[in-house]
Amino acid sequence: MESDIARVLFDEDTIRKRVRELAAQVVSLYADLESGITIVPILSGSIIFLADLIRQMPMRRIRMALLQVSSYRDEASPGEARILMNLTGEVSGRHILIVDDILDSGGTLSRVQGMIREKQPASMKTMVLLRKPGKAPPKIQADFVGFDIEDLFVVGYGLDYAGLYRNYPHIGVLRPEFMKPTL
Ligand code: 5GP
Ligand code: MG
Repeated sequence: MESDIARVLFDEDTIRKRVRELAAQVVSLYADLESGITIVPILSGSIIFLADLIRQMPMRRIRMALLQVSSYRDEASPGEARILMNLTGEVSGRHILIVDDILDSGGTLSRVQGMIREKQPASMKTMVLLRKPGKAPPKIQADFVGFDIEDLFVVGYGLDYAGLYRNYPHIGVLRPEFMKPTL
């Protein structure tokens, strides 16, 4: 797998450190909240990030409402954000933290934020591990961002190419010869 990667942008240790900082920000923001929060992770790209993040959040009341969205169909170009699996938990009246792997064109977050807003949560914030600045329209924002990156297609730490590389522990750029529709 290592040989398929052209360049590592963030290694395991760097990611772990940043995830710990993000978790601390969330914990301090919601410290006084008796009711706790409901995390809405956008599957599948956020799974590794989510698993590491919540274990750094020593809060008594964290609930989860899963959502699966597909925006890429096996090729490295954005498409329509499609809901593949609807919310598995309650969001109305709850304090919601949406968690996604990456904010690119903003199509996914626009769809998800709109959908959650309609259900009238008590509050709604968004966290992304990665963001490609300047690509999403200004009204699509994340409140917490792990790292800003160049406009490159990255894999690893949950992010896939054609379903592969989610288990790569670092975040890196795939060699162009491995980004083929025939793979
Ligand atoms: P957006 O809808 O903002 O264009 O893209 C968000 C979704 O597209 C992310 O949740 C992620 O699944 C996918 N995506 C965007 N950029 C990348 C990338 O560089 N690498 C990978 N693997 N997925 C990406
Ligand atoms: Mg995604």
